[in-house]
Order: sequence, then C-alpha cells, then structure tokens
Amino acid sequence: MSTFQAPKGTYDLTPPRSATFLAVREVISAPLRDSGYGYIETPGFENVELFARGVGESTDIVTKEMYTLTTKGGDQLALRPEGTASVLRAALEANLHKAGNLPVKLWYSGSYYRYERPQAGRYRHFSQVGAEAIGTEDPALDAELIILADQAYRSLGLRRFRILLNSLGDKECRPVYREALQTFLRDLDLDEETRRRIEINPLRVLDDKRADVQKQLTDAPKLRDYLCDACKAYHEEVRALLTAAGVAFEDDEKLVRGLDYYTRTTFEFVHDGLGSQSAVGGGGRYDGLSEMIGGPELPSVGWALGVDRTVLALEAESVELDLPATTSVYAVPLGEEARRVLFGVVTELRRAGIAADFAFGGRGLKGAMKSANRSGARYTLVAGERDLAEGVVQLKDMESGEQSAVPLAEAAAELAKRLG
Ligand code: AMP
Repeated sequence: MSTFQAPKGTYDLTPPRSATFLAVREVISAPLRDSGYGYIETPGFENVELFARGVGESTDIVTKEMYTLTTKGGDQLALRPEGTASVLRAALEANLHKAGNLPVKLWYSGSYYRYERPQAGRYRHFSQVGAEAIGTEDPALDAELIILADQAYRSLGLRRFRILLNSLGDKECRPVYREALQTFLRDLDLDEETRRRIEINPLRVLDDKRADVQKQLTDAPKLRDYLCDACKAYHEEVRALLTAAGVAFEDDEKLVRGLDYYTRTTFEFVHDGLGSQSAVGGGGRYDGLSEMIGGPELPSVGWALGVDRTVLALEAESVELDLPATTSVYAVPLGEEARRVLFGVVTELRRAGIAADFAFGGRGLKGAMKSANRSGARYTLVAGERDLAEGVVQLKDMESGEQSAVPLAEAAAELAKRLG
C-alpha cells in the first residue's frame, strides 16, 4: 500500500471540490441558524457505553460498525458513529435543559465513523450536519425540523429528493405492535441472524433490503393499525403542518431506521439519483433516549443530513453551486522591486477585506498570468520596472480584457471602488 493512500473507505477533500463541501455545510445549517438553533461541538469520541446504551445494543451500528479503542489509561472509547447521543449527553452535562428555555435547539457539523463495507456513497468516515430540539413534545417541532431540512435541500437547488414519513408509536402502543410482529415473523422462512433480530429488534426486520425477505413481509401486521390515539393524533398533526407548509411527503410504513431510540415521528430524505445508498438524511423523535442514557425524561426530535451524499446528489442533478471566486485580485510582479511593491499592495487589499493573491516564486509573466486566470480573480495587477518608474501599475479587468495604468498609490482604492 502506498504511503499516499487514504485508509480504505475514506477520501480526502481537496480543492476545488472541497469548496462545495464547505458551501453545502453552510447552506444546510443556514435555516437552522435562522430558526433559533445554537451551534454545539462535541468530541470526536465518547465513552463506548454512551452509544451502546443510546444507539442500541442490537443495532448494526453498535454491534458491527463502531470503531472502539482502549486508551493507555484503560478507558473504553468509540469514535462517534452518529451525533444525537453525543449532543444529548453534552446538553445534559451542561444542564442546558435546566435553563428554563425548552426546547434546547442545537445544530452541529462534523465527522462520523462507521466500519461499513465501503461503496459509492457509503464511507467509513463521513460528514453530517445535524439538528436536535431537546425537551419538548410538540408536533410543530417535528414539522419545523422537516421543513428546515426541505428548505436546506431546496436552497441547494436539489429537486429529485423525496421525504418518507412514518410514526413508530410510543411506549404505550409500540410494545403491543412489537409482539404482534414477532408472532408473525417467527413463522417465516428466515436465516439465523434475522431470526435473532426478531427477538431483539423485530421492527428492523421490516427494513431488510433483500427481495426474498420483503416478499414474505407483505402481510405483516402494520404499525399504523396499532398506534394509540395519542400517537395517531400527534402524527396527523405533523402531517397537517407539513401539508400546510407545502412540503410534500410520502407515508412509508416500512421506515423504521437503523437506530433503536426512535419513537413516533421518523423520516428520511431519499434522493433518486444515488442508487442503493439513496438516503441523504434522516431523523425522528427520540422521546426515550435521555432516560436510556441515564438522564431525565426529555422528549426530543432531530435529524442528520449526510454532507457526502448531498454533494453526490448535487452532482447527480448536475447542480453547480454558485460559489463566488475566492480571489478577487491577483498580483503579478515582474522583477524584484515590483515584487516588494505589489506584495505591499496585496497586503493592503487584504486588510481592506478584498480577497487577493500573489504570484509567488518569481515566475515569468506567462505562467503567472495562467495562475491569475485559474484563481478566478476579476482583476490582475501587473507591474514591471517601467511601470514603477512611472509610479503606476497595470490594472487588467479579466472579464473584459481591458487594461489601464493606475497610479500606484490609488491602486487599492480603485480596486475597492470597482469591486463595490
Ligand atoms: P443515519 O444516522 O444512519 O440516519 O445517517 C444520516 C445520514 O448520514 C444518512 O442519510 C447519510 O446521508 C449519512 N450517512 C450515514 N452513514 C453514512 C456512510 N457510511 N457514508 C456516507 N454517508 C453516511
């Protein structure tokens, strides 16, 4: 293996594509920042116990996909496979829920790690932007999060995504359904592992992607028929609020999601241009999670959107984000003296808030102009000995090709004026 190869299932973000990733994080988080969500950052690793209890002992994420390690001090840690458990842990630790300001609304952005079988759109290191609204049971909060995610994807320019919606019931009605489902599943022709899953987490069997399994599930009892009145009313209200907001969704009975902590509302954003890894984001309500990790009762709801797959979705739809050129002015000095002078102008421009770059390394005019072009700069400043002797620099408009001599002392002000 080459020393220059990233570990299996990972990849690097390098310019220019990396700019799209930054922009996606920015666009996804913008609606959250405008809606009362505060930024939270938690460590990249946590005590393994948090995920075992929080995400669920029976989930693939915990049993197969977690990167665990024992520190030299003997602590059992895990690289975070998802964000919700960490964010809730941090909110509890900081007593954010006791400040008398519920719900606690938080957003985050970061790297997550799962030891999965790598394929297109599925990596061992990936990036998410997420949101959690902690401590309040209110269908409007579920609706708010779904609407904000929809707004985020739309403002990116995505169109070919769909929202799948379901309700998983609560601690009253879900156990009754669970038992009915187990009774049904036990009679089916299933492999050992799936049979084990029936006993630990039968709802996840509904999520099985295999056609021979799906075929047997046609007559499985439906959760919808088991929802208690409170859950039904709650779900109807979420649906009504989404409809009123003009957010289209599809009811998806089979949507159970891979984590144990969900109750009531669950949803997934799928994109039709991504092949098998079609989920670009997902989330739901997790009313029991706080208690599962040892906290007080704090009904909450949240989502996480995958940045990697969102970028793939943009590529699938051929959406080009309108990324402003990072450099507005590119300075090309010809000779030692010009190098000192133009470097000074570049510094002045930067201090005035104008994005400027410089042809380093004493390169010839041709190569330096190529770099100027590549930088996307609107203007170039060129100066040689003769210009300096006359006290001017050549200011070239890269769009029109027009070039004019500008007094050196006025170059920065002139550029500031032209760039508005
Ligand atoms: P989940 O926590 O599994 O619901 O994931 C939320 C979102 O994160 C998914 O919809 C994906 O967009 C993204 N995601 C999850 N796992 C991976 C992965 N292994 N590689 C890339 N993106 C992922």
